[in-house]
Amino acid sequence: MSKWSFPTGDLMKGKRGLVMGVANDSSIAWGIAQQLAAQGAEIAFTYQGENLERRVRPLVESIGMDTMISADVTDDASMDAAFAAIKAKWGRIDFLVHSIAFAGKEELQGSMVANTTREGFRRAMDISVYSFIDCARRASEIMPSKEEGGGSIVCMTYLGAERTVPSYNVMGVAKAALEASTRYAARDLGAKGIRVNAISAGAMRTLSLAGIRGGKSLMGTGRDWSLLKEDTSMEGVAGCALYLLSPIGRSITGEVVHVDAGFHVVGVPDISEGGGGAA
Ligand code: NAD
Repeated sequence: MSKWSFPTGDLMKGKRGLVMGVANDSSIAWGIAQQLAAQGAEIAFTYQGENLERRVRPLVESIGMDTMISADVTDDASMDAAFAAIKAKWGRIDFLVHSIAFAGKEELQGSMVANTTREGFRRAMDISVYSFIDCARRASEIMPSKEEGGGSIVCMTYLGAERTVPSYNVMGVAKAALEASTRYAARDLGAKGIRVNAISAGAMRTLSLAGIRGGKSLMGTGRDWSLLKEDTSMEGVAGCALYLLSPIGRSITGEVVHVDAGFHVVGVPDISEGGGGAA
């Protein structure tokens, strides 16, 4: 039984793709996968290691899919095997969802200047940014030509790329690099008919958020300050992914789309009664 409800249809009928980054039933990748499946997509999933397989398999089976491939994005041999398995199974894919990031707990608290080690920086950039470049290259090699419809790639980012957010630290630096990588990948792959975009989601209750010191208060602030005065919804994020990955997102590439109830446009939150100055 899904926690969310997604519109059904056939926007993705005949499309096959890879969703990377489902860890459990709260993962953003899982919401996106359900929406894509509800619109007729056929999906292969990668998961990070055997421990996660047990948790992810029942989810994958619950939407009638069965292709699950182990892939650790830090390991070239694992990535070679994963993309070879996809190629052997389908020959080509039409879309890719990259919903993967990691930084150590030590880095996601306090001062970025004080707490970012060389190894922590390297690891955050490798898993959260290089992996996207690597996946974009590998996926583009097995996407249809422009004449045959091309392909579409989406990754997940956060406002911490553009503004400072407490404790987000090195992950904010990584997300800025991820957004720049999105634009460069869009430039490189555009002539092949492959669109590349990022979704900047507001704070959502997932395993990744739990790794950030004070992560829960990011959600509270998002709710209180956003223009819509509500949490970012999985339906909204998954709907945006559907839009970007399906033919209705045609002509959109190199974009970072904010799905955060309007939080990103707020400079100053609403001033409470009596708190404002005279004009
Ligand atoms: P999540 O923990 O459910 O997903 C993160 C995924 O990254 C997991 O599936 C994990 O297995 C995978 N991963 C980490 N290291 C890996 C490795 N070495 N190899 C393969 N996979 C690896 O959390 P989520 O919130 O769904 O995060 C998904 C994406 O959304 C991330 O890029 C995250 O930064 C981004 N995002 C999250 C929020 C939020 O508030 N939760 C907001 C904006 C953007």
